[in-house]
Amino acid sequence: MKVKLIRHTPEPEKLVAIAARLCYSPVGVEDLDEQLNMEAARKLVKFVIKSGHLSTTEHVCFTFGIEGISRVLSHQLVRHRIASFNQQSQRYVKFKENYEYIVPDSIKQNKEIDEKYKSFISDIHKFYEEMINSGIDAEDARYILPNSSETKMIVTMNARELLHFFTVRCCKRAQAEIRELATLMLKDVKKVAPVIFENAGPNCLRTLCPEGKYSCGKPPSASDFEA
Ligand SMILES: Cc1cc2nc3c(=O)[nH]c(=O)nc-3n(C[C@H](O)[C@H](O)[C@H](O)COP(=O)(O)OP(=O)(O)OC[C@H]3O[C@@H](n4cnc5c(N)ncnc54)[C@H](O)[C@@H]3O)c2cc1C
Repeated sequence: MKVKLIRHTPEPEKLVAIAARLCYSPVGVEDLDEQLNMEAARKLVKFVIKSGHLSTTEHVCFTFGIEGISRVLSHQLVRHRIASFNQQSQRYVKFKENYEYIVPDSIKQNKEIDEKYKSFISDIHKFYEEMINSGIDAEDARYILPNSSETKMIVTMNARELLHFFTVRCCKRAQAEIRELATLMLKDVKKVAPVIFENAGPNCLRTLCPEGKYSCGKPPSASDFEA
């Protein structure tokens, strides 16, 4: 899996602080921008995150380039509605020599099953190629491709949505592949907005686990999500 933070709003924490300060200040936007130094901005960001004044975090966006993930993962990812997505098309791209697929760790670790898995996928791909070579459109031939097929995406989320995304997808209850993705994304955004994402991650980092009898009982620490 390859994840890269390819763009983000410049000075994300300063912008959140400006939005917060504006709510309570008689001065204009330009003056606020000039008056706020980074130390004051970070203090204010800490306060708004703690107090739950999270609309201020909606002004900053983060865009990720993601490769080497399965369609199992992408299907879960696009359930997050406050986000923007583009995904490599299986209609316009024909997967001939360039067909890739994902093997989950539990399968990799079982030699016999791993071999069967690869041989099964190889048979599926042979039939896919046969269909393409017989003139079947890629948009129809793709019906045979499995959930494990590799895909690429560009994903943009604002900081508020990311905080929510990290809460549900960095949790051990989340499926392994999307948890790996969420963890890598969190490590990336922490480098550019350490205060906004200081305590981001599963609920149990901040409060009691809400999972009841499904709780893993092993809360992580914030440092598990640092690069
Ligand atoms: C461990 C786990 C298991 C899951 N299992 C299943 C499953 O078996 N089947 C299944 O179908 N899904 C499953 N999901 C997906 C889950 O139901 C959500 O679709 C997904 O996590 C997106 O989260 P969300 O809806 O909270 O937030 P997002 O879509 O990311 O939106 C963020 C927040 O915005 C608000 N919001 C967004 N849209 C609306 C709206 N229309 N109305 C009101 N408020 C809104 C909500 O507060 C929401 O939490 C699972 C998710 C997890 C983490």
